[in-house]
Amino acid sequence: MVAIDDSIQYLKGVGPKRLKKYNSLEIYKIRDLLEYYPRTYDDQSNLKLLYNTENNEKATFDVLVLGLLEVKRIRKNLNITTFLIEDESGKGIMSFFNSPYIKDNIKANTRYLVSGKVTKFRGQVQITNPQFEKKTENNNVGTIFPIYSLKKGITNNEIIKLTNQVINNNYYKEPLPQNLIEKYRLMEKNEAVRNIHRPQSKKHYLLARNRLVFEEFLIFQLAIFRLKKDDKISKGVPIEINKEIYRFIEELPFKLTDGQNKVLDEIFKDMTSDTRMNRLLQGDVGSGKTIVAIIAMYLSYINGYQSTIMAPTEILARQHLESFRSLLEPLGVKVELLVGSTTKKNKERILEGIKNGSIDILIGTHALIEENVEFRNLGLNVTDEQHRFGVRQRESLNTKEKKAHTLVMTATPIPRTLSLILYGDLSISTIDTMPPNRKQIDTIAINNSMLDRAIGFVQEEVKKGRQAYIICPLIEESEVFDLNSAEEVHKDLKLDYFKDFQIELLHGKMNAKEKNEVMERFEKNETKIIVSTTVIEVGVNVPNASIILIYNSERFGLAQLHQLRGRVGRGEHQSYCILYNESKSEISWQRMKVMTDSTDGFYIANKDLELRGSGDIFGTKQSGMMDFKLADVSRDINILKYAQQEALNILNEDENLSKNEHLELKDAIIKNFKIEYAILN
Ligand code: ADP
Ligand code: MG
Repeated sequence: MVAIDDSIQYLKGVGPKRLKKYNSLEIYKIRDLLEYYPRTYDDQSNLKLLYNTENNEKATFDVLVLGLLEVKRIRKNLNITTFLIEDESGKGIMSFFNSPYIKDNIKANTRYLVSGKVTKFRGQVQITNPQFEKKTENNNVGTIFPIYSLKKGITNNEIIKLTNQVINNNYYKEPLPQNLIEKYRLMEKNEAVRNIHRPQSKKHYLLARNRLVFEEFLIFQLAIFRLKKDDKISKGVPIEINKEIYRFIEELPFKLTDGQNKVLDEIFKDMTSDTRMNRLLQGDVGSGKTIVAIIAMYLSYINGYQSTIMAPTEILARQHLESFRSLLEPLGVKVELLVGSTTKKNKERILEGIKNGSIDILIGTHALIEENVEFRNLGLNVTDEQHRFGVRQRESLNTKEKKAHTLVMTATPIPRTLSLILYGDLSISTIDTMPPNRKQIDTIAINNSMLDRAIGFVQEEVKKGRQAYIICPLIEESEVFDLNSAEEVHKDLKLDYFKDFQIELLHGKMNAKEKNEVMERFEKNETKIIVSTTVIEVGVNVPNASIILIYNSERFGLAQLHQLRGRVGRGEHQSYCILYNESKSEISWQRMKVMTDSTDGFYIANKDLELRGSGDIFGTKQSGMMDFKLADVSRDINILKYAQQEALNILNEDENLSKNEHLELKDAIIKNFKIEYAILN
């Protein structure tokens, strides 16, 4: 048997070509495959009774075919084959169009699983052109069927076959201590992994999920507490406030809002105290967090220290570079950018400058953490749009420079109780006022019948000289999802509505250089319309853009829609957000209503929780706040509380996780969080 950390190339059906494809899904080892959990499930376990349905409902039925009724020719190209069927609730009719041969395929007095849409005619149930399958011991229908995230060239079936080869092998040593398994009656690890891939029943699925979520949270909490402990030991670099910083604030092109002043006070207090600052700065989209960071970083500079800011995308990092340079370079501050696409030569030059202290401020993306950046004297380290980073990334930069103050900024509001648990180690500041003279963004939600008019409206705005974002959930057409892709929408609009305008495509698979060029042309107002995936979600600031149209709005989290909407309304122009909801479900329209009713990110986030809380149990994960595999901090808050308590208990009893029953946990923490539990032993 291959081992859990062996390459998947040892599995049947994985040649070099397949291997590459799987690697692109970040599946390298057997372990990755085992932890490649289904994205969602097709719940076919809920068999319905024929007469327990609504008109037009789609469902699966377990029926007895009583016999063939007739094969009838209606007109030249149309004939119908009908069968009489029956279940406990009564008799009905099953019919097929233009499939006369079917009379030989379906046997009388035999049970079938039949899925299709029900219509009611004179009180009698009819199912037309259903999928059918003879009932056997092991039908797919009647089970909970896993659906995996896919990429072009890999089918769901393939992943099913591949996972089939491994899920029964009991690869895992149980990482949770036995007393916890008993206390909470948790499903054993291997069984949980099996059931998350192939749930035997809804109940098994829930038990499996709960167990895995508990484990994820427990490991996370152990890591957080460990960090917190390290934090206490460390003193921050000493900072003093002087006149120069106030002069800088005075001379800004605008007056700070009360909210900005308040959080700056808190930040100044932290930085001048004798323990290291560890602060989370929350502020709605557009509340002006960047300038707060710039001021704090300038303060660090005046005190003779370097500072750094990390952004989730290269686009945003470049934008920061411009704002920072325009405000700080006249004062003699040297600002540089280090990102994935920085040339080797430049990179060497910048790393050298950081090391010898000739560069004062470094702006970057996560490339920053991966590089071995050695600072001469780092004083402050800022992370922008924290919700886009995994905890892992945040922590790995932190642990490098133990004495640097830390400021983490996010526009994703987290309810207070939640943030205390998640960021037990952080103090929190909130900017609760918006800069003056902001125009409200007019938001409307539309359905398909209004799409043409909406695009016409975008066209008019562009004719007026404004610019537009058009957002789609996918990059390219997919065989799996019936969703709009940026490529298609771009192609269509370019041929039609926007043939006289510069319209460009932007998405995450383009390389950094291409992305930057598209963004640059947009910033310069050469490009009028960008059709994009959510790569522009955070931070992008083009004040002349006044309208955003979001396809498949129902597919996005509300916090994400709020972020996307925040791309407009950044200048003097009246701005608009059009949410194209392609779902008919009531809950999706309720969610749209939250967006059209409010522009308050906190309100929206809370409503999102409420509405999602009532969703079905197989709801897919969408908050993206943290990079948990299964856990969803909003939905699983109760499990999180227990996990936190248990993490405390464990550390009280075994601070360094050196007892036998904690070794697997320690291992997982070191692997996942790169935290050095080991050196303490
Ligand atoms: P976010 O909090 O979303 O990161 P930004 O920092 O990008 O917001 O600020 C949004 C816009 O508001 C920027 O163009 C910035 O220059 C402007 N801004 C920030 N603070 C103020 C203020 N006090 N008065 C007026 N405009 C401001
Ligand atoms: Mg920002």
